[in-house]
Amino acid sequence: MSDNIADLKEQLVVTGRSILDRGLVAGTWGNISVRIAESGNIAITPSGCDYHALSAQDIVIVNNIGIKEEGELIPSSEMPLHLAIYAVRSDIQAIIHTHSIFASACAVAHCAIPPMIEDLVQIVGGGVEVAEYALPGTDELAKNTVIALADRQAVLMANHGLVGCAKTLREALMVVELVEKAAQIFMYANMLGGPKLLNKEDVAIMRRFFVEQYQLRQGGRT
Ligand code: 13P
Ligand code: ZN
Repeated sequence: MSDNIADLKEQLVVTGRSILDRGLVAGTWGNISVRIAESGNIAITPSGCDYHALSAQDIVIVNNIGIKEEGELIPSSEMPLHLAIYAVRSDIQAIIHTHSIFASACAVAHCAIPPMIEDLVQIVGGGVEVAEYALPGTDELAKNTVIALADRQAVLMANHGLVGCAKTLREALMVVELVEKAAQIFMYANMLGGPKLLNKEDVAIMRRFFVEQYQLRQGGRT
């Protein structure tokens, strides 16, 4: 196994602990994947994984059509969703699916989070839309999610949860954390008469700043 693959597996394990410890998932729900640059294969968490018991050797590697290349366990049941996003978004190298409370509240209400606050629009590229409902783990859910995600970095899945995408796992973790924060702010703002939204031009300026300048200053680890 190359050093890079070993490192990516370790990053998946650490990120799994992070999403559980930060309350972004409960129990064994949610899943995480990363694209392996050299092969185009995907390293993904196993289905039903206990994040605190998870170790690098439990991570499953599949090719870009979902055939298992490495690992003993069954890959996440949301593998079709992860593969569908990677297939159409060459800019995305890491995906985290969470069931965090405020984002899920928006998802069950089929209520998109509007472009209303600067950190959200910088990291997501706008508001967060809601993908049409489909059963978990299905190709239909994967298709609906890709459509609603469009060219942004996060999407809600109706009556289910959140998907965050990015160039790195570390940034994908920031996406799901910031969307959860925005969902909470959205609810409080609704109690105060509703959020006043950012305009399209300012959203584009802030996103460009994040992509072209802000990320270059990131350092440290998950
Ligand atoms: P897995 O445990 O199979 O990854 O599924 C959890 C989940 O969140 C399904 O949507
Ligand atoms: Zn789920």
